[in-house]
Amino acid sequence: MTRTYKIAFLNGDGIGSEVVPSAKRVLESAASKIGLSAELFELPIGKEALKNFGRTFPPLTVDILRQCDGFLLGPLQVGSYPKSDPDYPMSSGKIRKTFDLFANIRPFKSFRGIASPLYSNPPIDFVIVRENTEDFYPDRNLFKGYGEFWPDRDTVVSLRVITRRASTRIAKTAFDLAEQRLKKRVTVVHKSNVLIEGDGLFTDVARLESRNHPEICLEESLVDTMALKLIQQPERYDVILTTNLFGDILSDEAAALVGGLGLAPSLNAGDDFAMAQSVHGSAPDIANKGIANPSAEILSLAMLLDWLYAKSKDPKLKETANAIKMAIDGQLGSHDSADRTVDLGGTSGTMEFTNRLLKRIAGRIPSIPV
Ligand code: ATP
Repeated sequence: MTRTYKIAFLNGDGIGSEVVPSAKRVLESAASKIGLSAELFELPIGKEALKNFGRTFPPLTVDILRQCDGFLLGPLQVGSYPKSDPDYPMSSGKIRKTFDLFANIRPFKSFRGIASPLYSNPPIDFVIVRENTEDFYPDRNLFKGYGEFWPDRDTVVSLRVITRRASTRIAKTAFDLAEQRLKKRVTVVHKSNVLIEGDGLFTDVARLESRNHPEICLEESLVDTMALKLIQQPERYDVILTTNLFGDILSDEAAALVGGLGLAPSLNAGDDFAMAQSVHGSAPDIANKGIANPSAEILSLAMLLDWLYAKSKDPKLKETANAIKMAIDGQLGSHDSADRTVDLGGTSGTMEFTNRLLKRIAGRIPSIPV
């Protein structure tokens, strides 16, 4: 019997209302071509929800999300939400915590036809596996509400939380992912020379987990060294396992290596649930101009389909994900400047880029190899 997958789309703020609908159109088109039965619908969050429902993360949105197979979350411009919001302080961390999405998987790879501004050859292909539920983030560490506090009016103390439980499940995620990849290497990134206890625990747990994966080579790197090496030798990395804040920062560096934030997808995954969400934020500088690159959202959606496939083994999920990825590869690899958005030196806006992608998925534009 054919199963129908329920997938929700939450635009969020800034460029979200441009790039998330683009990803929805792409999934509609690819699903219909492959014959994947999917029910796609929009849910309010962020400023739009505040305007219509008086809060940024309405309980109805949470209830409906719980009944979905997965969802795509656009960027949230949380710094602009008022303190009067009943959901204050709202953040995407709150959503990650609500659904226990402990693993943030962020792949970075070279695209045919997109020259890296920092690096030429050989191709880049690594994944940052970032712990998603604790560390320096007061919205997600264990002492919720006490993650940051003022002992006196001139001092702020920020607490950093690292637990064995969270470190173990993220280490397992990283090693399991490395098992499926060619280079078979996990690099654990830390600052255990300074954060002796917290990052000492994180790296110890990675060493322990490595014993269950004799095929995988484990190496260790300080985060500052990693920031350097990622620019000098990005091709040597495979799976980079790290804590929340380091993963956040290294991700933007990694995005710059492959052509920018418009090309950096990500998936937030738990044991039973997953949320697609690109690495970039709300980009207020280009919002409402119709020029944002939707590729990161579209590729994040493909990651969600691959995650659902790993759970269900429904081949139509895999085929739909592949159709989307091939269309993006073909489009970015084309010589035609109309096949790129302006951030990549092209001439297309969000809408035109998406329309061309839909034609590719429908087989009406052949992909010209670079
Ligand atoms: P926020 O406050 O929500 O984090 P931000 O502008 O500080 O927003 P990002 O949204 O991550 O951070 O964007 C950083 C820069 O990268 C932006 O100035 C924008 O020009 C560029 N950028 C981000 N996403 C895209 C995209 N999808 N397409 C094109 N450019 C993008």
